[in-house]
Amino acid sequence: MNIDKNFLDYLRDEISEVDYNRYIKHLIYDDKSSMADKIYIIAPNALVQNWVKSRYSQKIKDLLESHYSLIVDVNIVLKNQVSEKKSSKLKPKVQTHSLLNPSHTFENFVVGGSNQFAYAAIKSASEKPGILYNPIFIYGGVGLGKTHLMQAAGNVLQNSSKVVVYTTVEQFLNDFIRHVRNKNMEKFQEKYRKCDVLLIDDIQFLTNKETLQEEFFHTFEALKGEGKQIILTADKHPKKIAGLEKRLQSRFEHGLVADIQPPELETKIAIIKNKCQINKIRLNQEIINYIATVIESNVREIEGILSKLHAYSRLMNIDITLEFTKNILKDQLHENRVNLTLDSITQSVAKDLNLKPSEIRSKSRSKNLVYARRIAIYLCRELTQSTMPQLAQYFNLKDHTAISHTIKKIQELLENDEDFKVKIDELTNKITSSS
Ligand code: ADP
Ligand code: MG
Repeated sequence: MNIDKNFLDYLRDEISEVDYNRYIKHLIYDDKSSMADKIYIIAPNALVQNWVKSRYSQKIKDLLESHYSLIVDVNIVLKNQVSEKKSSKLKPKVQTHSLLNPSHTFENFVVGGSNQFAYAAIKSASEKPGILYNPIFIYGGVGLGKTHLMQAAGNVLQNSSKVVVYTTVEQFLNDFIRHVRNKNMEKFQEKYRKCDVLLIDDIQFLTNKETLQEEFFHTFEALKGEGKQIILTADKHPKKIAGLEKRLQSRFEHGLVADIQPPELETKIAIIKNKCQINKIRLNQEIINYIATVIESNVREIEGILSKLHAYSRLMNIDITLEFTKNILKDQLHENRVNLTLDSITQSVAKDLNLKPSEIRSKSRSKNLVYARRIAIYLCRELTQSTMPQLAQYFNLKDHTAISHTIKKIQELLENDEDFKVKIDELTNKITSSS
């Protein structure tokens, strides 16, 4: 397409400076995906996406018409939506570097008891890379800010002219395969071993990929040897990642391992206030408290709710009331849970504990199976509408009293064992966010 890559700069003169800096500045025109009658613009997150869609799509259209005489459809999409589209169209030929999300900054990150240790660790790495702690390993449940924090350090270091490589394990694997296939491993090694800072997200996906672990091990050693900062994230402590080579495990533990816990109520409230401020959403304290209480822990889910509230209230031109919020939340929670079945929950529990679903549903009384079965029963009861007799039948138990007994047991454990509670929260998060 014959459009200047930075054509959105033209909007700078047409809209408020605040909106420009907050939204338009972070958009990237996707030249590669755009077509004669359709252009794609990538937004860094759903909030920006919705905002731009509702307020500036038409302006962008007008701009293209006035500057380039083009009449096109303007699509504001998220990054993964573009790559999906591409892969369904053509085999992806070039793998682009994963870009850092510019809105993942330290300033935009709300610090509270649940994440302050991880925050301090990563902040120190952004100030003195490779010197204090190397590697830094951040672990915690889904949507708790691991990627955000790691990229915040990446953004700071990139701005001070360091060569920063951010990748997920999945992209690292694809990159690796492509270079092996094209027989140019030197290029691969140059990219990953010659950078100043390497950020690898979701390390748990290295599990059971021996060749990739081998390659990663050498990458790690090369960087570490030169005092280059490495930051890693995962959903659990290195020790708990099954199928990870011992030498990698011990190297990860050798640096600084910091966890991120689900945010406490006050932190959730602070996060909601922060997001409202950034996105100019007006909510009263009662609504804020309500959202913070209903959404258990996942910050991504909180963002989803806010952007939905905002979009609906704008489109329908009504104020956001508590009643309105309750309705939206009801839909959202229902939406999240509607796909959950006894099978899918049992499968997730089995996967998490390295068991087979059939083992969980068997009559075996072995200790680890009883443990897994109890968890599965509890989660099935919490996350589906199944009755106790239905659960008894599904899990091959005598009758519903066995189910109520199990649920009581788990509730007791949840009250008395903090580690167990975290584990169940994490699992719940995983199950509800993958459905
Ligand atoms: P994870 O990588 O742990 O799954 P992300 O880093 O992707 O989670 O965070 C999910 C979303 O929640 C992101 O949009 C991120 O900006 C936001 N987020 C998470 N924690 C915080 C926080 N403490 N303050 C502000 N935003 C946060
Ligand atoms: Mg992440």
